Amino acid sequence: MQTQPKASHFIDGQYVEDTSGELIEVVYPATGEVIAKVHAATPAIIEQAITAAHRAQKDWAKMSGTARGRVLRRAADIMRERNHDLSVLETYDTGKPYQETSVADATSGADALEYFGGLAGSLTGEHIQLGDDWVYTRREPLGLCVGIGAWNYPTQIACWKGAPALACGNAMIFKPSENTPLCALKVAEILMEAGAPAGLYNVVQGMGAVGASLVTDPRVDKVSLTGSVPTGKKVYAAAAAGIKHVTMELGGKSPLVIFDDANLEDAVGGAILANFYSSGQICSNGTRVFVQKGLRAAFVKRLAERLGTAVIGDPMDPETNFGPLVSARQMEIVQGYIAKGVAEGATLVCGGERLDKPGFWITPVIFDGVTDEMTIAREEIFGPVLSVLEFEDEDEVIARANATEFGLSAGVFTNDFTRAHRVIAQLEAGTCFINSYNDAPVEAPFGGMKNSGVGRENSKAAIEHYSQLKTVYVRMGHVEAPY
Ligand code: NAD
Repeated sequence: MQTQPKASHFIDGQYVEDTSGELIEVVYPATGEVIAKVHAATPAIIEQAITAAHRAQKDWAKMSGTARGRVLRRAADIMRERNHDLSVLETYDTGKPYQETSVADATSGADALEYFGGLAGSLTGEHIQLGDDWVYTRREPLGLCVGIGAWNYPTQIACWKGAPALACGNAMIFKPSENTPLCALKVAEILMEAGAPAGLYNVVQGMGAVGASLVTDPRVDKVSLTGSVPTGKKVYAAAAAGIKHVTMELGGKSPLVIFDDANLEDAVGGAILANFYSSGQICSNGTRVFVQKGLRAAFVKRLAERLGTAVIGDPMDPETNFGPLVSARQMEIVQGYIAKGVAEGATLVCGGERLDKPGFWITPVIFDGVTDEMTIAREEIFGPVLSVLEFEDEDEVIARANATEFGLSAGVFTNDFTRAHRVIAQLEAGTCFINSYNDAPVEAPFGGMKNSGVGRENSKAAIEHYSQLKTVYVRMGHVEAPY
């Protein structure tokens, strides 16, 4: 497959290059080979993107919602038709196994385009009767939205931000992570092919500095970031200086609580989905696995057995279900946490070996006997490291699960449905699961509480974050003024 894009950026309906921008080498995580080279956006490129997006947005907002939606739904169809090639590219960009990318990336991007395409025609304001007078509200676009992505879901993030933004009549400039610059370019290409006007959805490459210059530009109306909490704090502050709208999808250290009446196989399956998909590089992962005392030994034994059957190897092989980490740097970060876990007294049940081959491979890790104060129980690792923490009763586990700055996700496994709902209601997290983990259908709101985020992606809730209301008071009679 051709992994080198025609040029670094996609602006005003076409590929654009400016080789004076800093060089970014795109590395295939499975082999460490350089598979493409792009350049970070220069001020001239950013200017070109903002000018094009501004122009395109004006005309796009004048179209009917149904007509806008038709473009998005056409783009969804094209994405599905090209799922194989897009999935292979996603695997090159991220290292995630094709077995995952072929069902979770372009497909979920297409779901977002289809869903928001369907909603676009039904976006309305309301009519409020006040005696003879009345008020109506107009749901208007925000204008120019900037999307900034993390590297774990490059296609999905580009669509989860782009689809609601465009449905509401906005234009978008998307800056992918510098680790995974390839996939968003395909999203831009497909949108143009589906009939979006040139300039409506632009992609510019670059590191944090490019993101920062977009966030601070006064012509940008909204910023949606998917990234870590420290980056979120910087971007939120910069956006606040310009009173811009924000959506912040940030990191997590989510609790997965398993009571001893849970179905063991389901709980183990849930813990696997909560920790090892995408080699553990998922924001919503339930990495603090609280297991009730009576079930803990059996749980750890069965988990280790099932993890032993993971197929680790060539990500392009459809049988492979566990791939490398995204970069050498991420691998070093994860190795550092594993070493800390051991040094602080956790029991390494299995995993953590670096595979003796090129690329960024670490085998999946189970730590048992983890306590709340250990570094691996407090900080987001963003790698395949599961920590088992023992608990005795419900009140205790709720307090311990909530004792974190994060609040992205939480899960409960139990066969006692009253308890399931009672516990979930008390967990401080935005996206929760009962007897399941990490499902993210486009119909459901997704996002975090506390330091894990602001705003929601997906579902009808996202419309609130990509549009604004204008209130219009209409007087039917004469104006009575005191003077
Ligand atoms: P990161 O915070 O390092 O970078 C995210 C993006 O922000 C990148 O595109 C980066 O170039 C850009 N950036 C960095 N500094 C910036 C600045 N000052 N101004 C503007 N942009 C800037 O995150 P990452 O390492 O790419 O991704 C991993 C993190 O993302 C994890 O913490 C993970 O939990 C989080 N994440 C959250 C979600 C979610 O939906 N909540 C989803 C995926 C990943």
